[in-house]
Amino acid sequence: MGAIASALQACLSRVGNACENVNRPAGCATLLAVSKTFPAEAIREAWNAGQCRFGESYVQEAQVKLAALADLDIEWHFIGPLQSNKTRFIAEHFAWVHGIEREKIAQRLAEQRPDTLPSLNVCIQVNVSGEASKHGVAPEEALALAHAVAVLPHLTLRGFMAIPEPSHDPVVQRTRFGVLADLLVQAQQAGLPLDTLSMGMSADMEEAIAAGSTLVRVGTAIFGVRTYL
Ligand SMILES: *Cc1c(COP(=O)(O)O)cnc(C)c1O
Repeated sequence: MGAIASALQACLSRVGNACENVNRPAGCATLLAVSKTFPAEAIREAWNAGQCRFGESYVQEAQVKLAALADLDIEWHFIGPLQSNKTRFIAEHFAWVHGIEREKIAQRLAEQRPDTLPSLNVCIQVNVSGEASKHGVAPEEALALAHAVAVLPHLTLRGFMAIPEPSHDPVVQRTRFGVLADLLVQAQQAGLPLDTLSMGMSADMEEAIAAGSTLVRVGTAIFGVRTYL
C-alpha cells in the first residue's frame, strides 16, 4: 500500500475510534481530505484508495488540479478565504463552501451558481477563539447571518464551520468546539434545518468529534507536512 493510502486508512480508524469513544455511531463524522499545496497525483492516489471528498483553499491552485482530475467524480469543498473576485469559479465547480462570513459573498455565490448544478452547500464560519482569530463572524452574529443565507436561492445552508486557534489543552479545545455545537442547536431550534458541524483537523479531530463534529477537515495526517502556506 502507498503512503497516502495507509495514512488515509489510519485517519479513518482515528475517526472511527473517536466516534466510538464518545458513543456516537460509526461514520458520524465524514472525512474531508484537505489537499491544498499537494499535487493532483496525490489526490488521485487518495481517490484510488477510496477517498472521494477533497478540500482546497486557493482558487488558482484549485483550477489546475480540477482540470487535471476532471475524469474523477470528486466532491470538491472550498475551505479557504473567499475573495469576491474569485467566487465565480467556486460557484461553478465546487459542491461545498465552508467559509461564509459575509452575506455579500453568499449573494454572489447564489447569483453565480449555474441552474444546471444542484444547490451549493455552504457553512458559516464562526470565530470561536476571540481576538486570536481574524476569520469568521462572532458567535453572537452567526444566527443572523445564518437566517440571511438560508433564504438565498441556489444555496443550501448546512451548518457552521470553525478553525479554533491551536491549544494543547483539550478542555479549551472542547469548549471552543462546544460554542459551535451550541450554535447549531440554537439554529435548529430557530427552525433552520441544519445538519453540519465542520470542525476538527489533523491535531484535534478527537476533541472535535467529542463535541459533535460531523465533518473533519484533515490535511497533514493524510498527505504529510505542507512545505508552504
Ligand atoms: C489546511 C486546512 C485544514 C487541514 O489542516 P491540517 O492540520 O493539515 O489537518 C483544515 N481546515 C482548513 C480550513 C484548512 O485551511
